[in-house]
Amino acid sequence: MDNIVYERLHNNLSTLKLNRIKEIMDNYLERAIKEDISLTEALDFLLNEEKIYKDETSLRMRTNVAGFPYRKSFEQFDFNFQKSIDLKTINELRTMRFINNNENVVFLGPPGVGKTHLSISLGLEAIKNRYSTYYINCHELIEQLNRAHYENRLKDRLKNYAKYKVLVIDEVGYLPFDKQGANLFFQLITRKYEKSTIILSSNRSFGEWGELFNDDIIASAILDRLLHHSTVVNIKGNSYRLKEKVKTFNNVGGDKVK
Ligand code: ADP
Ligand code: MG
Repeated sequence: MDNIVYERLHNNLSTLKLNRIKEIMDNYLERAIKEDISLTEALDFLLNEEKIYKDETSLRMRTNVAGFPYRKSFEQFDFNFQKSIDLKTINELRTMRFINNNENVVFLGPPGVGKTHLSISLGLEAIKNRYSTYYINCHELIEQLNRAHYENRLKDRLKNYAKYKVLVIDEVGYLPFDKQGANLFFQLITRKYEKSTIILSSNRSFGEWGELFNDDIIASAILDRLLHHSTVVNIKGNSYRLKEKVKTFNNVGGDKVK
């Protein structure tokens, strides 16, 4: 190949950001000539390699943006340990139909039963299915909204959270809301209502939300919107964290804990 053509080819690959092709092309073309691979086949191979590379990069970037505290899949979840979870419901959620229909999911249950794990697993599958996804802990969310409110940029902040097709709000209920916090949370829920999906986890049953939000009226308005189109997964079981602790404790020769 003449030098000018070779240089232009590489420059064009850079300009068009076809980095994977740029990286493998020289070796591959040599092989293609030796093995008598047709031009169509060669072009197909190179473009396919680029597509795989771009898909992987995009998946990695979108997963980083989501900001999960840890990454765990459904395959890593022991459903035998948590018998109260209906597998049919989980499998239905995994079809992603609820996201297409702008419906919500609420995981309820005491600490350690897998609420965060399952929210993350669903979030990771949503990302694989190209839905923009963002994870935030409720306390952090309220702090962010409060700050935005005082700095006169609440509208932008709400818009930012609303732009994600799937917003995972974790740990609702560990800390109580003050009046302002409840109001901001209500605004966010209203903004997303029937437009996109919220995956929410809480250790507090719905009956306790009036107390949690310090206001029965705002709590029922939030629940009304959140639950209108939703799947509620109520997990009644033991903490998986404690199960691990019990195993360690027994192994080091403590009194048997059942
Ligand atoms: P929480 O309900 O408090 O959000 P997590 O989902 O964070 O609990 O679970 C606590 C830890 O235990 C995590 O590391 C999670 O991966 C693990 N875990 C919980 N339930 C299960 C389960 N049934 N199978 C496997 N790991 C589990
Ligand atoms: Mg949790």
